[in-house]
Amino acid sequence: MLDAGWKFDNSYARLPERFFSNVLPTPVRAPKLAVLNRSLAAELGLNEEALRSEDGVVVLAGNKIPDGAEPLAQAYAGHQFGYFTMLGDGRAVLLGEHVTPSGERVDIQLKGSGRTPYSRGGDGRAALGPMLREYIVSEAMHALGIPTTRSLAVVTTGETIMRETELPGAVLARVASSHLRVGTFQYAAQWGTAEELRALADYALWRHFPGFEEAENRYLFLLEQVIERQAALIAKWQLVGFVHGVMNTDNMTISGETIDYGPCAFMDTYDPATVFSSIDTQGRYAYGNQPYIGGWNLARFAESLLPLLDENEEKAIALAQGALDHYPKQYHDHWLSGMRAKLGLAEEQEGDQELIADLLRLMELHRADYTNTFRALTLGEYTGMALFDASEFREWHERWQTRLSQESASREEAYERMRRHNPAVIPRNHRVEEALAAAVNGGDYSVMNRLLQALSDPYAYSPEQEKYAELPPPSDRPYRTFCGT
Ligand code: AMP
Ligand code: MG
Repeated sequence: MLDAGWKFDNSYARLPERFFSNVLPTPVRAPKLAVLNRSLAAELGLNEEALRSEDGVVVLAGNKIPDGAEPLAQAYAGHQFGYFTMLGDGRAVLLGEHVTPSGERVDIQLKGSGRTPYSRGGDGRAALGPMLREYIVSEAMHALGIPTTRSLAVVTTGETIMRETELPGAVLARVASSHLRVGTFQYAAQWGTAEELRALADYALWRHFPGFEEAENRYLFLLEQVIERQAALIAKWQLVGFVHGVMNTDNMTISGETIDYGPCAFMDTYDPATVFSSIDTQGRYAYGNQPYIGGWNLARFAESLLPLLDENEEKAIALAQGALDHYPKQYHDHWLSGMRAKLGLAEEQEGDQELIADLLRLMELHRADYTNTFRALTLGEYTGMALFDASEFREWHERWQTRLSQESASREEAYERMRRHNPAVIPRNHRVEEALAAAVNGGDYSVMNRLLQALSDPYAYSPEQEKYAELPPPSDRPYRTFCGT
């Protein structure tokens, strides 16, 4: 038997008992590997061949527990669409933390692994389509340079699950720098003791924020660091047009990684009101609202930390407020420097923000495709969009060219910068659907593998990527995504 190379050391399992329930994955009938992430396996120091073997696949399916793993479901709470509730891993178990040859610690979580004490009415299972979707989009995000949980493998279970119709079941092996969430802290603040909350905060500091020992107030440092990472993350989402779709506080990590690819999708036509999720009827998680929701979620995080910030409540609130007050500017600075880069600008000038705002306004007015507008600016090829025929756009283009000529970097360097910041491809909804349909309905993974290949280096501008930049044929129905499927 080949050794897959799992090396578990389970620090989360050493937290107070309140934070989890020991639970084994429920074995599945006939596990079969659907997709394996070779490059991630290599990064983690895992043996690909061993993972692919029968002994490897039963581990990925949850049928066999590898040596050193201590499966558990994590407890957490969260605000879902603004309403606070108890949650927890209802259809996932953490096998444990794998320590890579370079010493990096990552959570290995099986999603769709069966019922847990937190399942409430759910079946604890996941359907193949949504797990493949998480695989595709999370790996695309990683390739775009955006912090995210990763996908190591998807295994089909040989069982069907009941949704609106019967669907094939699957288990996703998710890799994360941790699964600590804002909702984990809310849970501790709501139901834990003061010592338990402190234990969780100390744990998060140890796991994600080296240097905390030097901080004057380590819990304020924790708050500031999480705010900074989320400001940076959400700016990156905005810059590529990613709509998360369900920014509940249980879906916001402490590490600053994107998590929970349920109803997410990339915006095509530029419109701040873009919503894909079928249940987000109020537009709470619309594209243009994401930075504000980020701030709202961080305020919930700050509240949960109050008892640790200072023993005097008034002082604690003042410290929390002080940290939160910086968030809008932190977010904006990340966004603005990212937008400058998308336009090839390395230096800062007064009028830059206006230049950017004017382009976005024109994009919205002419219903321009977000990604392809920046792609066209990068390539200098202006075809196929109403925007490019507008005289206002030509005026804008002239202003932009003038601004570029004021840079000390050469024009060539500016275009090089643009290529590194404007993806030639994103996981377009129709391409993702096409890949999922072939895999789920026909067992044909070739469409998905070609898509994954095109998405693996989104800044390559290779000829093979061109067809993935094309828009879908016009449809009278808006694209809709579904949660928790
Ligand atoms: P999500 O929308 O994926 O963030 O899930 C929200 C909550 O519902 C989490 O506590 C999940 O574990 C739980 N959940 C989602 N689907 C299921 C399911 N099929 N069975 C049990 N729990 C589920
Ligand atoms: Mg979730």
